[in-house]
Order: sequence, then C-alpha cells, then structure tokens
Amino acid sequence: MIEIDGSVGEGGGQILRTSLALSMCTGQPFTLTRIRAGRAKPGLMRQHLTCVNAATEVCGAEVQGAELNSQALTFSPGRVRAGNYHFNVGTAGSCTLVLQTVWPALLMADAQSHLKLGGGTHNPMAPPFHFLERSFAPLMRKLGAKVELSLRRLGFYPAGGGEIEVTIWPAADKLQPFNLRERGARVEGYADCLAPAVPRSVARRELERLGGALGWSDDQLREAPVRQNEGPGNALMVTLVYEHLTEVFTEFGEKGVSAEKVAYNLVREVRAYQVSEAALGPHLADQWALPLALAAWKRQQAATYTCTELTQHAKTNFEVIERFLPVKFSTGASGSDWQVNVQPHVF
Ligand code: AMP
Repeated sequence: MIEIDGSVGEGGGQILRTSLALSMCTGQPFTLTRIRAGRAKPGLMRQHLTCVNAATEVCGAEVQGAELNSQALTFSPGRVRAGNYHFNVGTAGSCTLVLQTVWPALLMADAQSHLKLGGGTHNPMAPPFHFLERSFAPLMRKLGAKVELSLRRLGFYPAGGGEIEVTIWPAADKLQPFNLRERGARVEGYADCLAPAVPRSVARRELERLGGALGWSDDQLREAPVRQNEGPGNALMVTLVYEHLTEVFTEFGEKGVSAEKVAYNLVREVRAYQVSEAALGPHLADQWALPLALAAWKRQQAATYTCTELTQHAKTNFEVIERFLPVKFSTGASGSDWQVNVQPHVF
C-alpha cells in the first residue's frame, strides 16, 4: 500500500489524479490523506469525485472514501478494461481532468476505448480542450500513444454542459520515450477567441489588442463560430506551432475583467514563452512528466525535456510519479530555462 500525503508541494488535485492514473497502470493500491489540503476548499469536489468514480469504473477498483468533501481515500485497483465509457462531472467542473485521470490506464489496456465526457471544456486551472487537442495529444502520438479527440460542445463555468469525445488506442508495447530539448523552427502562430453568448465586441476587442501587442495580422486572429446553446463563456487562446511541438496558451474572460486585460494577461504569458528557448511551457512541463515516465519505465530508457519554468505543480508531480514507478527525476537550470531528466532505476 503506497501512502501519499495530499498536502505536499502543490497540495492540489493533480496529486489525486496522478495517483489514480499510476495506481491503475501498475496495479499498486494507495491511500491518500489530506486531499487537496493546499486549496481553499480542501477534499474531493465534484470534479475530483468524478475522477475517482471514472477510475473505479475503468478498473473495477475497491474504494473507500469516495464521497464529496472526503479528505482521505483508499484505492485498490483491479484489471483495466478497455470499453465505451461515459463520465459526466455534472457541474461545470473540468472534464479534461477526468480524461487525464483515465487516459494513461486505457492506453495500457488491450483494446480500443471510446469515451464521452461531460462538464467544463475550458476552465481556469485545468487544461482547456484545445490545449489537449493541439499540444498534448500530438506529443502523445509521437510517444506511440494514438488518441483522437473531438469537441462536441463547449462548456464554461458556471453553466457547464460541455461534451468531448475521445478514442484511445492500446499502446503498452508501442511507447517510445524521446528527448524534447528544442522547439525547432517556428511554423505559424494564431489566436482564437471563444465567446459564445457574449457580445461580439468582446471577442473583437480581445483579438485586436492581442494582435496589436504581438504584431500579428488579421488573418492570424480568429473569432470562433458561435454555436447555439453554448456558453456564456470567454476564452482567448494563442497557438504557437513549431517543428517539434505546439504550445497553446489560454486566458479566461470573466465579469468585471475588461477584454483588454484578458488580452494583456495572455500577451504576458506568450512573451514569457517567446523570450525563452526551452521546449515546453509551464503547463506542458508538469503534464508531460507522467506519460514520459511511463514510456521510460516500459522501455528502460531515459529521456529529457527542457521547460521555461519548473513550477510547484511539476515538482510535486515528479515526487508522486516516483512513488509509483521505478524512475528518478533530476532537474538542472540552464540560464533561466530548466532541463528535466527521467531515468529508469537500474537494478
Ligand atoms: P491542480 O491545480 O493540482 O488540480 O492541477 C491543475 C492542472 O491543470 C495542472 O496540470 C496544470 O498544468 C493544468 N493547467 C492549468 N491551467 C492550464 C492551462 N491554461 N493550460 C494547460 N494546462 C493547464
């Protein structure tokens, strides 16, 4: 039984999701105490409970403590079963985080799985759908793990109601770690503004301000078509496509925050990435650790990546991954950038 303290480092939901994912991949049970102790409302919120329930359904686990607000959980996994699954958060909580919980286990299964996920698709403090589709999934495919994602309906806080469909192919014997030290040549950059059920002038102002600050032309600035019954909600995204990877940066509009401020915040995020030469931005850097460690363990082969920042999320994720997999993370600074290395244990 692996004992995890949910208050260490970042003290957020990622400790729970990484533990669930790797418990399913390795068959090791765990207990998690002080769940999300670092957050204003600790314990299992609806979206975290949906992650636990999704994991339970995928592997027939025995579970104690799977209740709303629970601050302790025991999870004993069974065999991972590929199949058709429907997971609904039931609130505007992020459904992409539910996907990230079960994704690693389902790619270790012996057949294809099809998922329908309901909830928020674009939430602050979670990977937006377009980040997963454009940035994370292509890297997963390079790693040998084929996945296809499609967005059926946008979901924003507080209405929720978003829907995503995902197909995951088995990849246990296909995973091949690779180094990601450089972005490679820049291919293109563009911005999208999602603003369903929000005045059109908001999207125009955000894109104009962003385009002006980044020196971009009109054809790089896109107003996403509005579909019926979506929103209200507002996400402004910048996608930077390079030879070796794509990065997606997102800022959210909300009541009381001007369109100009949303654009300004995003420009700051994009510039911080552009002044650096490292491959991965801060969010990819924490999320890439788990699949890369799985591949390094499966193939008994080390791998490296560079990143612009080493966040508390990333450091905490490395620690949790090391509790489940026989791998060791090491990090080093090079100028203002970071290098992360994951190495399988040699017995
Ligand atoms: P936690 O706060 O522990 O629940 O973890 C949140 C996760 O969402 C981390 O893996 C973050 O990197 C990820 N995340 C938060 N904001 C973004 C964003 N704008 N783009 C991509 N990933 C994000």
